[in-house]
Amino acid sequence: MAIEQLLILIKPDGVKKSLTGNILTKLSEARMVIIGAKAVKVSKELAEQHYYHLKDKPFFGELVDYIQGKVYGEPWDRVLAFVYQGEDAIARMRKIAGATNPEEADPISIRGAYGRITTKGVYENVVHCSSDPKEAEREIKLWFKPEEIVNKIYPTKEVTV
Ligand code: ADP
Repeated sequence: MAIEQLLILIKPDGVKKSLTGNILTKLSEARMVIIGAKAVKVSKELAEQHYYHLKDKPFFGELVDYIQGKVYGEPWDRVLAFVYQGEDAIARMRKIAGATNPEEADPISIRGAYGRITTKGVYENVVHCSSDPKEAEREIKLWFKPEEIVNKIYPTKEVTV
């Protein structure tokens, strides 16, 4: 099994609902290592870059507002960003996070337990979790500077466990 890194975000709805502790407890069941962590006020530019693959979707504008915490405002307009590292980390963390649509997610997953669909139709699903190794690398480089990560992870071949 490969050692992987991935980006996890606790989105503004998770912060607002005081779910940080619950979410980190559930993620800790995978026994992975946190190698980066910080609070981020998300700019429009960062939000659009993070979700660039959805730019043609009808909900894109709402999604950008959501990840910026615009609907909640101060002091909830932020996300908590983490880089996790572990064996087969992406598939295992996505299972704990649950399906994108909170109404279809396993009820014991984070999104199934805590997510909802807003009246505007946005899936407020509490966490972001990178979907594959290439996307994880792109996202980690987008959200973190190399010096904010305690292990040297890129280039990948230099990773040690
Ligand atoms: P994931 O976050 O599971 O990797 P996507 O990258 O497809 O899934 O979507 C990014 C985010 O956009 C989702 O987590 C969710 O908040 C929102 N989203 C995705 N699809 C929809 C949809 N059909 N309707 C409303 N919001 C959506």
